[in-house]
Amino acid sequence: MRNSIILFAILLNLQAFGQQYWQQEVNYTISVTLNDVDHTLTGYEEFVYTNNSPDVLTEMYIHLWPNAYRDGNSALGKQLYRNGEMELNYGFQKNKGNIDDLKFNVDGQMVQWKFDEKNKDICIVTLNTPLQPGGKINVSTPFTVKIPSGEISRLGHIDQSYQITQWYPKPAVYDKNGWNAIPYLNQGEFYSEYGSFDVSITLPSNYVVGATGDLQTESEKEFLAKKVDETKARLDEYLQLSESEDPTSDFPPSSKEMKTIRYTQSRVHDFAWFADKRYAVSMSEVVLPQSKRTVKTWAMWVPENTSLWQYADEYLRDGTYYYSLWNGDYPYNNVTAVDGTISAGGGMEYPNITVIGNTSSEEELEVVIVHEVGHNWFYGILGSNERVHGWMDEGMNTLNEIRYVQTKYPDNKRLSDMVMNGSFHFDDLDHHDQSDFFYRLTASFGEDQPIETHSADFTPANYATIMYGKTGLVFYYLKDYLGEELFDKCMHAYFEEWKFKHPQPEDMRATLERVSGKDLSWLFVDLIQTTNHIDYKLKSVKTNDQGTTVKVKNVGQVNGPIQVNITSGEDVLETSWIQPGSDRKSIVHMSTPDAREVRIDVGNDIPEIYRDNNSWHSKGLFGTAEKVNFEFLIGDNNPQRNTIYWTPIIAGNAYDKFMVGGAFHNMSLPFSKFQYLVAPMYSIGRNMVSGMAELAYTCLPANGLKQSKFGLSVKSFKNDNQTTTREQFGVYLAISPYWIAKIGNRLKNSPLTQTLQLQGIAKGNFATPEEQVLSYTGGFAKYDLNLKYPDHKFNIQVRQELLRLRGGQWINRTMGEVNYAYRYARYSMKRWIEIRGFVGRMNRFTAAPIAMNDPYGLSLSGTNGTQDLFFEDYYFARGPEAGMWSQQRNENMGGFKSTSGYGTTYNWMATGNVYVQLPIPVFGIFGVFADFGAFSNGFSVNTAINTGLAMRFGKVFGVYFPIWMSKELNDSFNGGKYGEKIRFTLKMNLVNQSGKLFSLIN
Ligand SMILES: [Zn+2]
Repeated sequence: MRNSIILFAILLNLQAFGQQYWQQEVNYTISVTLNDVDHTLTGYEEFVYTNNSPDVLTEMYIHLWPNAYRDGNSALGKQLYRNGEMELNYGFQKNKGNIDDLKFNVDGQMVQWKFDEKNKDICIVTLNTPLQPGGKINVSTPFTVKIPSGEISRLGHIDQSYQITQWYPKPAVYDKNGWNAIPYLNQGEFYSEYGSFDVSITLPSNYVVGATGDLQTESEKEFLAKKVDETKARLDEYLQLSESEDPTSDFPPSSKEMKTIRYTQSRVHDFAWFADKRYAVSMSEVVLPQSKRTVKTWAMWVPENTSLWQYADEYLRDGTYYYSLWNGDYPYNNVTAVDGTISAGGGMEYPNITVIGNTSSEEELEVVIVHEVGHNWFYGILGSNERVHGWMDEGMNTLNEIRYVQTKYPDNKRLSDMVMNGSFHFDDLDHHDQSDFFYRLTASFGEDQPIETHSADFTPANYATIMYGKTGLVFYYLKDYLGEELFDKCMHAYFEEWKFKHPQPEDMRATLERVSGKDLSWLFVDLIQTTNHIDYKLKSVKTNDQGTTVKVKNVGQVNGPIQVNITSGEDVLETSWIQPGSDRKSIVHMSTPDAREVRIDVGNDIPEIYRDNNSWHSKGLFGTAEKVNFEFLIGDNNPQRNTIYWTPIIAGNAYDKFMVGGAFHNMSLPFSKFQYLVAPMYSIGRNMVSGMAELAYTCLPANGLKQSKFGLSVKSFKNDNQTTTREQFGVYLAISPYWIAKIGNRLKNSPLTQTLQLQGIAKGNFATPEEQVLSYTGGFAKYDLNLKYPDHKFNIQVRQELLRLRGGQWINRTMGEVNYAYRYARYSMKRWIEIRGFVGRMNRFTAAPIAMNDPYGLSLSGTNGTQDLFFEDYYFARGPEAGMWSQQRNENMGGFKSTSGYGTTYNWMATGNVYVQLPIPVFGIFGVFADFGAFSNGFSVNTAINTGLAMRFGKVFGVYFPIWMSKELNDSFNGGKYGEKIRFTLKMNLVNQSGKLFSLIN
C-alpha cells in the first residue's frame, strides 16, 4: 500500500511537471476621442489574440464593463443595491452609462455575437473559423461609451474631470479553468490577459492626461514639461488655495483645438487614463535598488489640494524603491499618481498609474499612494485572479504597506492617533496594530470569514479587515518566522518565477515552500482557507543559573510556529522559535539564566485573538499576582495589564428614585472570551442597594460557524410602592441564565440571520420581612429569523414559555410573530410601511380570576413592567395600575398602541398591526397606525380596533396618540381623560432583542 502511494505521488508529480504553463496574449491598438460636452467616448479597437492554450477555441468571451452602469439589473447594480446604494436603480438616466455601437469583425469578416444571458456587461463572440492552438486572430470593433457619473464606481466623470477605466471591449482570461468571464463589480476586482497596448487619445488640447504606458507624442512631452515648470513657479500661489473651495467650480473652458496623444506599453494587462484641465504636475526620478535603472514618477493633482500633494513625488519614489527592494525591480519606465474622485475605496490601481480618492492628511495620502503604487507588483506584474483570490494582491500589498510605514516611520503611532490621539489607553499602537486590532475585534465577536473567500461573498467589513488586514498579518508572521533575509529571498523568487503571469495560490505556496525549505500548510491551509484561530499558551517556566526551560501549549486551532522570548523590561534577551506542526505541548530550553520575564510573541506580531495567556513573571520580583489596574471607561485589550474599567453611573426609576453607583467591567477591545459587568447602585433617598450584574462567555467555533454565548444576568431593584414597615422591602431579585446561538455559517455575506435563545428565570419578591418568597421560576426558547434588504425586511419570531408559579401552578405560553417592512418612498426619502401579525395561545393549569394587567396573561397592548416576566426590558416602574408610568408599554404581544389592560387573556389572541411613516420631510418622525385584534376570554370572542397618530424617534422612543378606538376598548378607560390613553415606548436595550449588554457590537 505504502509503495503504491509513493508511486502514485511520483506519477502525479510527473503529470504536473508535464503540464506546461501557458497563457494567452492580447495586443491592442485603440484610438478614442473624448467628447467633453456630452461626456462620451467614440473609439475603434483592434486586437491580435494569440491562442497559446492546447485547446481549439470556437468562441470568445469579451467584457463590456461600461454596461455595468446601465441600470440596477447589472451585477454592479445589484451589489450596490445590497449595500444601500441605489443610484443605478432609481437615479437619473444622465448619471448612468453604457457601451454601444459594437460591430465585431474577425480577420476582416463579420461575426455573430450576443450578450451573456445573465450579465449584459459580458458578450460572446462566435468565431467563424475555430482558433487552433498556436493560432492568431485579429478582432476589431467600433464602440461608443456613455461615461457614467464618477460617484457610482470607478469609470466616470465629475463634471469635466475624467476617470477612464474598464472602458474598452476586453477578452476574458482563458486559462486552465477555461473562460474566466466576470461581470464588473464594485467589491471585487479583475483578472486580465497580458499583452501590449498602443492607444491614441484625441481630446481638447488644454487637458492634462495621465495614462498607462510611455508617452510617444513629442508635443505632449513639451506640454507636460511646461506644466511641471508652471507648477514649480506657482507652488506658493497654489498653497494659498483652500481645500474647501469647490473643486468643480473652476474648470477652464475647453480649447477649440484638439490634440491626439499616443501611449504604448507592453507586458501589462490593462490600460487606464485620466484627464483634467486643472491638473498641476510634478515629475521626479528614482533609481531602482537592484538594476540601478531610472524610473520617472509623475504626480497630477488639482491645485486646491496642493498642501496635501506637495510631497507626492517623495511618496512615489519611496514606494517604488521599497517595493522594488523587497520584491523585485519595477520593470516599466513611468509611475504616475493622479488626484481623482473615485467611489470605490480610497484609491484604485491600474498598470503604471493609480488614481487617489479624497484623503484627509498627508500621512493618509502617503499610505494610499504607496499602497496603490504597490499594486504594480501585486496585480500588475504578478497578475493573480483578484476576483477569486483577492488576498493575493490586496493582502500581499498590505504586508508591504505595513513594512513601508515601519521602515520609514519607526515611531509611527497610526492607530493610537486614530483613536482620539491615544486616549483611553489605546497607546503605542502602530500601522501593524491597526490591522491587528480590527482583525482581532472582528474575530472576537465571531464575524471573521476565511481569507480565501470570493470577493463578492465577503461582508464589506471583512473585505477590508480580513482580505487586506488579516492577510497582511499572516505574511508578517511568516516574515518574522523566516527572518527578513529568507523572506525577501522567497518573495524575489516568487516575483522572478511569476512576473507577467497568472500565479494561483498553489503556485505561490510551491515557490515559498521550495525557497524557504519549510512546510507552510499552517499558513496556506489553516490561516488562509479557514477561520481557525491561533491561541498559544505559556504553561510554565523553570529557570536557574544554568538556563531556562519553557513549556508552551497550543490551545488554538492552528499548528503554526511559536515565538518564545525572554525579556527584561523593553529588552529582548533571547528568542526561540518552536517549529510548526509540533505536538500540542512543547518544551523549549533557552540559555538565559535566571529569567524574570518570559513571553510568547513579545512584539504582538502573531495574529492571536487572545493574548492574556502569553506571559510569565518571576514571583520574586513582583509578587504572585499581576497588579490590578483601574482605568476609566474602556481601553485596548492589553495582555500585559490586568485591568478593570470603571465608570460612574447615575440612574433612576419610579420607586428607587435617584441612584448613584459605578459600573465595573472588563469589556476592552478586542473582547475577551469571558466578560463581566457589575453595576451596584445606591438609592440615596431610600437607603437601599440596587443594581445589576452580567457575566458572559463567548464560544467561537471553527469552520466558519457562528458564535454562541452563555451568560448570567442578575437584576435587583425596588418593585413597587407598597406601604411596608420598612422602606428597604418591596424589592425584587431576578436571576436569568441564558444561551444565545447564531445559526448558520458566515462563509457568505448573507441577508439572512437566525438566532436561537434559551433563557431561564428565577424571580424572588421581598415584600415584608416575614414574606420573602420565590415568586416564580421558568424559561423560554425563542427562534428569530431576519431577512434584510435595503428596501424590505422580513422577520419571524417563535417563542415558547413555561413558568411555575409559587404554589405550584404551571403556565404555558406559545407566541408567534411575523413582521414585514417595505420602503415605499425609495430614493430620496426613506419611508417605510410596517406590517405585523401576532398569534398567541396560553394555558393556565389552574382556575384564577382574570384581572386587568394580570402579569401572566397575553396582553393586547404589549407588556408593561408587571408583565415583563423575564426582565428583558427596562421600565420606569414595574407595578403600577394607573398613572403615567403605567402608560409605558413594549412593542410585543398584541402590539396595540394603547395603554389599556383591556384584552388581557388566558386563552388565545390574534392581532394585526400597521404602521406607516408619513412621507413628509421631517426625518420620518411622524406616522399613522392601525391595530386590529381578536381574542377569546374562554366563553366568547372579542374584537378591538385602535387607530391614531404617532411620533417615533428611531426604535428608542415613541409616543402614540389614539384617534379612534372600538367601543369596548374605549369604554375600558371608564371615561378617563384623553391623556391616559397616550402610550409611550422606551426601548433602552437596543443592544439586541434579548437585551444582552455584551452584544454591543454585533
Ligand atoms: Zn489595493
